[in-house]
Amino acid sequence: MSSLEDGARQLDTVLLKVASRCNLDCSYCYVYHMGDNAWRDQPKQMSDAVLDAVARRLADQYALQAVPFSVVLHGGEPLLLGVAKLERFCAKLRDALPHPCGIHIQTNGALLNEPIIDVLVRYDVGISVSIDGPQDVHDRFRVDHRGKGSYTQVRAGIENVTARADARPLLAGVLAVIDPESDPAEIYAALKTLGAPGLDILPRDGNWETLPFGKAAPDSIEYGRWLEGFLDSYLSDPDPPRVRLLDDMLRLVLGGCSVKEGVGTTDYGIVVIEPDGTVDKNDTLKVAGAGKDRFGERWSVLTDSFDHILRSPAFADYYRQQRPSSPACQSCPDLAICGGGMVAHRWSETRSYDNPTIFCADQRHLIAKMRRLAEAALPHAA
Ligand code: SF4
Repeated sequence: MSSLEDGARQLDTVLLKVASRCNLDCSYCYVYHMGDNAWRDQPKQMSDAVLDAVARRLADQYALQAVPFSVVLHGGEPLLLGVAKLERFCAKLRDALPHPCGIHIQTNGALLNEPIIDVLVRYDVGISVSIDGPQDVHDRFRVDHRGKGSYTQVRAGIENVTARADARPLLAGVLAVIDPESDPAEIYAALKTLGAPGLDILPRDGNWETLPFGKAAPDSIEYGRWLEGFLDSYLSDPDPPRVRLLDDMLRLVLGGCSVKEGVGTTDYGIVVIEPDGTVDKNDTLKVAGAGKDRFGERWSVLTDSFDHILRSPAFADYYRQQRPSSPACQSCPDLAICGGGMVAHRWSETRSYDNPTIFCADQRHLIAKMRRLAEAALPHAA
């Protein structure tokens, strides 16, 4: 990560779309259910030739920026590669990007079997699994193509990892999409039983044109209340896992820094590499509309270096877009903590990204609670 003022733009996170299809059909998925059908034009899987170009370009960029970054095998569902191809891809990436560069996989977990886990162990690939809580909550939205809940398979996949002493340390975390109609204490307890060292929680997608699921109005605080409940469970847990979103916000309330996009005012260099090698913006921007995650120029790892892409005016614009531009954010006392939220969640037809996040009221509710807690605990620091 770096700031625009530094004049330096570097890669922080590369989302490597190795598969454009998924074995599940989660009803809230921004890839398949937000009206952008670009995935249909992509090959089902990244080819070896494209992966060779990816590895070469990333190695060149690492040599140049000399700051490690993370590559996340992403999809669709990246484990649809199968064992043999996953092994080839991991071997080439690890060869191009030695430690301390991180290689991770974001998976729905349903295909985490022994041979797959063997490969992930061999190449030290960190694992993050998407699971939304207990079975009834998870199966409400995370279903397969016949509409059947995926909880049983996903839970078995996680247990396949945690049962092995050599694989357990690779489980970096579980990622849950918030159902604001669920009980946050119940979700916290269910996620914790999975044994992952980190919990990631994400709001449902939405913007000023399409309200997120469960949010009645822009100024309602369903997500703020839910997050407050989750925070209460977290803070009362004598042996808590990490909760990245809350940790970041609490650190910012206390005057520290964030480590992840979406809160705070640090800029991040995030790119997506599509299965055909095209380089796109963060694909969460699909939430703002079809094609919003594309650069004007169609760069590809087959023809363009990351140095060229990162130095371009178009990338500078994309990078700058992370900074909240709306007058409300500019004068907001919570700006340093909230950061204006995810760029995709600021979208409206009339003002483009020049808005606070659609979760503004929720953010303010949660930050107010954190400030009260900080003041009570450290009366001179908050
Ligand atoms: S709380 Fe609202 S106004 Fe303040 S920075 Fe966040 S989105 Fe902007």
